Amino acid sequence: VGDSADIDREVTSICPFCGVGCQVSLKVKDDKVKYVEGINGPANEGRLCVKGRFGFDYIHHPHRLTKPLIRRDDAPGKGLNVDPANWQAHFREATWDEALDAAAGGWTALTERHGGRAIAGFGSAKCTNEEAYLFQKLIRQGFGHNNVDHCTRLCHASSVAALLENVGSGAVTATFNEIEHADVAIVIGANPVENHPVAATYFKQFTKRGGKLIVMDPRGVGLRRFATHMLKFRPGADVAMLNAIMATIVEEELYDRQYIAAYTENWEAERAHLAAFSPEKMAEVCGIPAEELRAVAREFATARAGMIFWGMGISQHIHGTDNSRCLISLALMCGHVGRPGTGLHPLRGQNNVQGASDAGLIPMFLPDYQTVTDDRIRGHFAKIWGASDFSAEKGLTVTEILDAVHAGQVRGMYILGENPAMSDPDLTHAREALAKLEHLVVQDIFLTETANYADVILPASAFYEKDGTVTNTNRQVQIGRAAVAPPGEARADWAITAALANRLGLNWSYAHPSEVFAEMKRGMPSLDNITWERLEREGAVTYPSLSPEDPGQPIVFGSGFPREGGRARFTPAMVIPPAELPDADYPMILTTGRQLEHWHTGSMTRRATVLDAVEPEANCSMHPATLARLGVEPGDPVRLTTRRGAIEIMARADRAIAEDMVFVPFAFVEAAANILTNPALDPVGKIPEFKFAAVKVEKIKDN
Ligand code: SF4
Repeated sequence: VGDSADIDREVTSICPFCGVGCQVSLKVKDDKVKYVEGINGPANEGRLCVKGRFGFDYIHHPHRLTKPLIRRDDAPGKGLNVDPANWQAHFREATWDEALDAAAGGWTALTERHGGRAIAGFGSAKCTNEEAYLFQKLIRQGFGHNNVDHCTRLCHASSVAALLENVGSGAVTATFNEIEHADVAIVIGANPVENHPVAATYFKQFTKRGGKLIVMDPRGVGLRRFATHMLKFRPGADVAMLNAIMATIVEEELYDRQYIAAYTENWEAERAHLAAFSPEKMAEVCGIPAEELRAVAREFATARAGMIFWGMGISQHIHGTDNSRCLISLALMCGHVGRPGTGLHPLRGQNNVQGASDAGLIPMFLPDYQTVTDDRIRGHFAKIWGASDFSAEKGLTVTEILDAVHAGQVRGMYILGENPAMSDPDLTHAREALAKLEHLVVQDIFLTETANYADVILPASAFYEKDGTVTNTNRQVQIGRAAVAPPGEARADWAITAALANRLGLNWSYAHPSEVFAEMKRGMPSLDNITWERLEREGAVTYPSLSPEDPGQPIVFGSGFPREGGRARFTPAMVIPPAELPDADYPMILTTGRQLEHWHTGSMTRRATVLDAVEPEANCSMHPATLARLGVEPGDPVRLTTRRGAIEIMARADRAIAEDMVFVPFAFVEAAANILTNPALDPVGKIPEFKFAAVKVEKIKDN
């Protein structure tokens, strides 16, 4: 924290890390951000966590890309061998004209030989709404198909699939701040104290005023100290546990008959299905005593107002969609949707994963989740874009695109702000795909692990260097403002994508992101009554906004759902075991995730001075009894091995973790967790099972 007398200007923007979307005031001197303070945004009311407050100086790191780069003809092969301090052995600097020509020229050469499907794109939830919109537009208009996706596929795709299926909308039904009006709240498969820290402060306050907090997670996550019930259920047993809770509500007739009759469908099928899941039968499966399952069921069902929050512990399973279906059914049968203090809220991960998905950066939907298979909808967007029609076939998802590279169907890619060489499951497979690409264009702010594989690298802008809107987990559309200039010749992402589009002959002419936003509004009813000018003036508007004066609706679906007939649906879920169970060779359970100080693949936070100082080393966590059994002291290195590969990593003790489990954060390239993870997919959401794999843990012998 600095001295306000020592700054040139203050600029208001949005924290670039998690989906909470805290508003910040950036204190700038000599074109450098000196310090950051929280301001009174709708989601944070002045609060910030350690990342928002201290994690900003990566934007001034000497590793920032400042000029376009092109791979040298004599470069020593593609792979993770580029030292940021010695990149000249692999790449040469180029002018923007030369780099844009090379980028677009490479794609054009491939499409002439193999057709438009030879090119695919990964956009980013780290970019603005306008940038996400332009990215999907470039792939659809420029190459004629829908093979475009982003990290929602690795995050909450299964939650969105279940919400769209059963309530007709992929976003939250109520803001997390609504917990203020709840009597009871369930937080399941989420660790908000580390991953949504400012939201966690609201959850803690809720308990201080007497709210009942029910935490469910195989790990004893940080909120356990505030919980009325902490259910440390067996990993992968989500559906068994949730069905047992719902079976109690049915058996003890605690459900909301009037709500079910007025607002839902398929109740009788759900009720019949649940008869097989009594808590007494499921207790052994999920590892929670029957009486505690019954107590939780009574607590939630009899409350006046209840909310359900969930994270990637729910979504990142091959049964992730089923997990979310259960949570939706639980809320519906209790009538806990559409009123103050009620609602369904998947805590979105990235700062703009909600907005990027809304903007159409997904292979099956155009903006606002309008299906690509509908001729009328495609025709509408083609008209807005002044383009010819494009494919009516749903596109490939993140992991399917890399599989298509291996199959020789995709030969070139455009990757903006994503880091699949670190974030995808089974990294060896993912990295081999990146190496196999004939023409890879990477647009980023650092020479990421993925940029190591690039043929052309385009230097982009950090969030605090550009104007644009983002949408947080609460459906709040907020405006970010440029506080400092990008370094060197780096440019805003929207401007780079537009320049590439014009190299492809698409004839785009945007002078500012506000013009892109205006175009988005023509195809996105969710943005009705939200204008750039309003956002400039008000800072944030929640969608839906019902009039130019309405700040937006924090709670939706009080009088019906956006489904045919206006009713939400119960979809029964069966128990499906994880794809890879522990056995004699791999006897423990691997689970992965984030930790407080580091953001996703670490490209930003490991270059943020304070955050890197606090958490500098790759680590994994196990129960002290597990370490003792292995003969390992905290701080010792261990080897973790799965059927995909092995890493060596420092061990930590954590009593909150089950004795048959190891937790590994995925931010550290030197011990990349995703070398180990299982690429098996949820069949609906197409999300990999990052939360469960069979693993062997060994002490590394002393020399
Ligand atoms: Fe940033 Fe999320 Fe922390 Fe808020 S809670 S400061 S948005 S990382």
